Amino acid sequence: MPEPKFAYFKGDYRSFDEAQVSIRCKALNYGLGCFEGIRAYWNARAGQLFIFRARDHYERLHNSCKIIRLPLPLTVEQLLAITVELLRRNGHREDVYIRPIVFSGSEQLSPTLTADDSEFAIYTLPLRDYLDPSKGVTACVSSWRRVSENMIPARAKPTGAYLNSALARDEAKMNGYDEAILLTQDGYVSEASAEHVFIVRGGALVTPTTQEDNLEGITRRVIGELVRNEMGREVVERRVSRTELYTADEAFLCGTGAEVTPLVEVDRRKVGDGRAGPITRELQGIFIKAARGELPKYASWCTPVYGT
Ligand code: PMP
Repeated sequence: MPEPKFAYFKGDYRSFDEAQVSIRCKALNYGLGCFEGIRAYWNARAGQLFIFRARDHYERLHNSCKIIRLPLPLTVEQLLAITVELLRRNGHREDVYIRPIVFSGSEQLSPTLTADDSEFAIYTLPLRDYLDPSKGVTACVSSWRRVSENMIPARAKPTGAYLNSALARDEAKMNGYDEAILLTQDGYVSEASAEHVFIVRGGALVTPTTQEDNLEGITRRVIGELVRNEMGREVVERRVSRTELYTADEAFLCGTGAEVTPLVEVDRRKVGDGRAGPITRELQGIFIKAARGELPKYASWCTPVYGT
């Protein structure tokens, strides 16, 4: 698969080689920025590429920018139009990951956020599986705690917060797990390194609220709607204790990258019988159909890229 040719940077579509920042850039030195991760799904039958829940992602990007005080002088509609045009120029006819990023491009020494330092860029790359959605993944409860709201705002997507994710995921990998689940400072389940955590107990789906220092999740919201509309079940948002992960009937991780990925083992304890459970499997099927633009009822969630 050839690399995508173009990125959007400094107000234009440029070749990748041209889209460069300085090693003195504050975003690189101090992690001053925020970003989004968006997926676009190739629907072979329709010959169409659909961006999934694009508006939600750009609304969240605006909120992240507001929280960290980096201006983004483009409306959600403008951001959408730029994304569509970039995908077209790159000619993607496969599943794609889209990464918009707002960052401090300033080369000043001090770690300060200044309105006129703000830069905006988008790049795209082909991406199928981020985790293994078929077999499922194992996880440990991390020795690293999730950054809390008053340290680095966890409901936003600030670049700097991903050191926290990386430390946890690295530790998990070194110890033979696929993923890490981080607890809050109070010791309750927050989220995984880049996914939300769901458990199933007695037929109910349970997930920690955003107050547990996790991202305001788009996939989590989508799952809430799909579970209610298509499966006649409810999602309960409440505090989740570590040991509930061990005793759950089923568990899964979800996110833009992870989609719906079964969680089959936590801290060397099998979740259920150690395989993806029936509710998780059913949800996986419904989710991917909706995301790929195969369910007309959810057509408004999918922005077509070609021929519009
Ligand atoms: N938590 C974190 C820390 C993430 O980076 C992500 C990926 N964006 C998620 C959860 C999942 O959120 P979403 O469904 O909005 O992609």
